[in-house]
Amino acid sequence: MEKTFLQLEGLGKAFGKNTVVDDVNLSIGQGEFVSFLGPSGCGKTTVLRMIAGFETPTTGRIVVNGRDVTSLRPNQRKIGMVFQAYALFPNMSVAANIGFGLRVGGVAKDEARERIGEMLTLIGLSGFEKRYPYQLSGGQQQRVALARALAARPAMLLLDEPLSALDAKIRLSLREEIRAIQKKLDITTIFVTHDQEEALSMSDRVVVMRDGHAEQIGTPFEIYNRPATRFVANFVGTLNVLEGTVSDAATGKVRLGAGEVVLKDGLDGARNGDALALALRPEAIALGPRVGNDGRLTGEIMDVHFLGSVIRVRVGLGKEVVSLDTFNNSTTPPPKVGDKAEISFSCADLLVLN
Ligand code: ATP
Repeated sequence: MEKTFLQLEGLGKAFGKNTVVDDVNLSIGQGEFVSFLGPSGCGKTTVLRMIAGFETPTTGRIVVNGRDVTSLRPNQRKIGMVFQAYALFPNMSVAANIGFGLRVGGVAKDEARERIGEMLTLIGLSGFEKRYPYQLSGGQQQRVALARALAARPAMLLLDEPLSALDAKIRLSLREEIRAIQKKLDITTIFVTHDQEEALSMSDRVVVMRDGHAEQIGTPFEIYNRPATRFVANFVGTLNVLEGTVSDAATGKVRLGAGEVVLKDGLDGARNGDALALALRPEAIALGPRVGNDGRLTGEIMDVHFLGSVIRVRVGLGKEVVSLDTFNNSTTPPPKVGDKAEISFSCADLLVLN
């Protein structure tokens, strides 16, 4: 990792008796893009607000570049922030909005004009300086909000669900744009979102939050492919979670529905009869047998969703339901609801969840 820029040490926050952030520990490198991902109410915004200085932590410290900033006021922290609602000043032009912090911060007029120009180029809105927010699309307004946050050359950028008020197509293009600008400026960035795709596609690392604590911290690849817990598996992506029972711990045998699978690495510490949750990615499952697939289970087709190039099929296996994607090859008709089905997979792809 790059040199550490930001450290959260045992960070916690309680409102009265209600602990909403609990012992969050994290080192973030210079220039790193880190997302806090989690369902509504898990405490991600509160973490961001503590980093910004809008909330005082109940426990722990926030260290920036080796300096404890926990008790500094927001305006002493060199932070740029963008919120979900664009929060532009409606009665100010684009240029005045972008230059707002510069004026407040006492930057000279010529210098401010130059920086506003730079920012407009950066966000691809040169020529828009005289417009007012109501004359801009939602995506353009959010780019102006980003320019306003960056104009004062902050040391860190905090983004609180900046894309969630936009429609799907703009959201996708702004994701890429924000990431490109962030990389260009090499600015350490923290992004709060409840959208797993957003977090996975934009971030260097993702912190999955649950009930105030960091459930898992890792790269998108690690979080998606190696979820540490059932919660992460469920929340990130469409991972299938299957409930099994250990039938022979010594040889790694687990009963799943009416079938049985064998875990290659065995089952250290488990006892026969223990309940066990196993995760399996949809793309690791085939409909019907496949060469090399040593795991097989039979069930019944529950749903078939035609998505174009891919057909998403849900197969019921007794109590469990698994989702899998098959490619539409245009000559094979899709399976029908109610048909008997066999699924197959490589047992090496089964992941034991904590
Ligand atoms: P969302 O995505 O809905 O914004 P979040 O994960 O960002 O959720 P937070 O906004 O951090 O969650 O809130 C975490 C918990 O803290 C919630 O239960 C919320 O009601 C509570 N909370 C937040 N701010 C305050 C406050 N000022 N006083 C009391 N409780 C608060």
